[in-house]
Amino acid sequence: MTLDNKSFLFSNPEEQDFEKKYIEMTKIKYTERVTVGDSTLETWYYSPYPGEYANVEHLYVCPRCLKYMRKQKTLRNHLSNDNCKVVGDKVYDYDGL
Ligand SMILES: [Zn+2]
Repeated sequence: MTLDNKSFLFSNPEEQDFEKKYIEMTKIKYTERVTVGDSTLETWYYSPYPGEYANVEHLYVCPRCLKYMRKQKTLRNHLSNDNCKVVGDKVYDYDGL
């Protein structure tokens, strides 16, 4: 993350130095982007994914079963797999949506 003067809460340079140190000390966000279907989102906060997914910068999430993967190729293979099913029960239906 790059900080410019507009990014700080404070205008005083000493307070900005303190704020910059605070941001670096509390930076615990490892996952920067998540792709679900056709949408890629930038994350705002810490995302506690387990094990091998904990430090992955970009995660790919299956839009049907919500399984998360490290590689887009893995997601493509997963989506072509007949074992991937929509999770949960349908609770709402409107005009096919
Ligand atoms: Zn799936």
